[in-house]
Order: sequence, then C-alpha cells, then structure tokens
Amino acid sequence: MPTAPKTGQSASRHPDTLLAQTLAGVDPVTRAVVPAIHMASTYERRPEGGYDGTGRTYARADNPTFEPAEELLAALEGGERALLFSSGMAAATAVFMALKPGDHVVAPRVMYWALRKWLTGYAAEWGLETTLVDMTDLDALRAAVRPGATKIVWAETPANPTWDVTDLAAAAEIARAAGARLAVDNTVPTPLLTRPLDLGANIVMHAATKYLNGHSDVVAGALVGRADDEYWRRIVAVRAAGGAILGTMEAWLLQRGMRTLSVRLDRAQANAARVAAHFEGHKLVAGVLYPGLHSHPGHAVAARQMRGGFGAMLSLRVKAGREAALKVPALTEVWKHATSLGGVESLMEHRASVEGPDTPAPPDLLRLSCGIESAADLIADLEQALERASR
Ligand code: PLP
Repeated sequence: MPTAPKTGQSASRHPDTLLAQTLAGVDPVTRAVVPAIHMASTYERRPEGGYDGTGRTYARADNPTFEPAEELLAALEGGERALLFSSGMAAATAVFMALKPGDHVVAPRVMYWALRKWLTGYAAEWGLETTLVDMTDLDALRAAVRPGATKIVWAETPANPTWDVTDLAAAAEIARAAGARLAVDNTVPTPLLTRPLDLGANIVMHAATKYLNGHSDVVAGALVGRADDEYWRRIVAVRAAGGAILGTMEAWLLQRGMRTLSVRLDRAQANAARVAAHFEGHKLVAGVLYPGLHSHPGHAVAARQMRGGFGAMLSLRVKAGREAALKVPALTEVWKHATSLGGVESLMEHRASVEGPDTPAPPDLLRLSCGIESAADLIADLEQALERASR
C-alpha cells in the first residue's frame, strides 16, 4: 500500500513551497534534500513470513520511489490518496476498468481524443456504455445521467482542443444526485489553477507527461482520490494486478520536474495570454480560443473556477483555411511542430489531422502549447509563419 499522504504542518503550506521542497521531504536515513531512488523489485519478508509494517511486498504493487510524487500530488489536490501510472491513458482507463460491465458513463464530446476513442471503442466492446454530451450544457448533462446506472461522469476542463469549460461544481452536483462519481482530467490547469476535489469531484486524473513533469522527457499518469474508499481500492487493484506502473527512474524524474511547476506554469500562461491577446482580431486569424479571453464562451465559468490564470493552452483558427493551417507548423522555427503539451518548449499542431474524422476541431484550427521562451519570439515566429502560409 502507498503510504498515507503527509498531513499537518507541511501539507498546510502554500503549494509553491510544497512543490519546491517536494513536501519538505528530507531523506530520513541520509538527510539528503532530494528523494532517493529505490530500484528494488521486491522486499524482504520477516523470518515468520510477514512484512515489517510498510505493507511493501513487490514493486508492481508499491514502490517507495513513487511516494514523493504521490504524496505531493495528494496534498496539492486536497485528496486522501494518489497513485502514479505508466501514462495518462493508463491512469484514465484505470478509472473505468474499476467499473463493471453494464455500467454507464457520461463523457464530454470535446475531450482528449484518444480517451474518447477508447471509451467508444474498446470500453464499449468490454461492456461499458458511454454517452457523449456537450459538457458545457448542464441541461444536456442532466438529461444524460441515468440515476443508479451512471457510475462515472468524466470531465476535462479546459478541454482539448477548443478549451471548452465545464462548470465542475454543477457537474459534481448532477453526478452526485444520480449516484455517480465525477472524475476530472486536470492535466491542463494543474492543481495550481483548479482543484476539482474542492468543487465536489471524487477523482482527479493527470497526464503527468505534461505540466507536472514539464520537460517532455517522461510519459506518466496519476490519479488522486478524494477518499480511500472501496472504489479507490478497486483502482489500486487495477494498477497492482494490471501492472501499468511507472518506471522507477521516471517516477524520480517526475518528482524532480514537479519541483519547478509553479514557475514554469506562471511563465507559460503569461506567454499564452500575450499570444492570445496579440492574435485576437489579427488580420490572418479567424478566431483565438483561450478561456482567458472575454470572447471565449467559457470565460465566465473559467474566471470563477480557475484561480491564478487560465493556463498555457490555446488554439488559433487560420483565416485562410485548412490548407494554410496545415502549412503553418512547418514554417515556424521557435514553435516546434509536435504533438503533446505542457513542456518548457512551445509546440504546435493541426489538431483535426491528428484526431481524425470524429474530431470536434475545426479544419482551420492549430493547437498551441505555450512554453517558457520569450513571448516576443513566439509572437514574431508565428506571425511570419502565418504570413507565409496565407499567401
Ligand atoms: N489527457 C490529456 C488532456 C492529454 O493531453 C493527454 C495526452 O496528450 C492525455 C490525457 C493522455 O496522456 P498520456 O499521453 O500520458 O497517456
């Protein structure tokens, strides 16, 4: 079993302090200010056969190298427990694999496309029924939940790739009234901008590959549970039995990356706000989708729900259309033409061609993940690429 998150004095400190010092953790044996790496795959039993009280038996179930990041995430999200997984998808799918065939799930139409595809493909074949709704429309959500049958309402906010904003407190209430749990993909805002558990959610998921790690060099996922209840223990069993655990080195790199989350996110979202403001109303741009802009349909809810900023993700619609949008990423130098998000380097891609025919992304949409470079360089680079692609 993972150890309980540290509580008391250290957990009550400001998130910036918790992050910078990995929960004020100092190695109890060496006094090192950086957590140790434990490569062991197994743990010695006592002579009589039992274990020494740590509960650790085998590293597919537990690994002390996971604990600094798990405890830190639980503290940041205000949850009782956290678990690392081998990817964001492994974490997200564990939420559904802990359900039973015949259970019903409600998920947004606008969400991370690979999970939508998994839910409507593999999970449907396996026996889960998923209803996709416009999660910004609370009446549609209310109509989609089936009291007693719906077990999970899944939300992602702001959601890939149009940055739709879900009112989490309202969604949690609708889920609760139907006897379902609200699970939230909190990858884009991170716990520094939104704490879904405070708004009534039960489970928080992270593609830790993105902002938490922050350096585009680890694929990882995490879940945080409000309570160490029966459902959470089913998720723990899904990880332990299925074995979708993070590698030891990756878990160490993840906690190392998390130490700078606060400064990285501050800078990246300041860049996003500048890029959004610059290109809104630009002669070559048909629209900028960024929840920080008053023109975004989700702005009012985002302003209420997100604290300290609107995140570092935005999308641009290229006025000259799809063909020009496809050319832009090949013409930038500072922006790298690559999938993914949340790293220190800025990335851009044409989302509809990544997601395929079911995509809600308009054909002229470019998704931008702002990194921590100079905002002036990012703007100038995109400006010249738009100019050349639109000729
Ligand atoms: N959720 C969001 C919002 C994502 O952007 C991604 C990946 O792009 C995932 C989940 C899946 O994470 P991973 O790629 O680590 O499996």
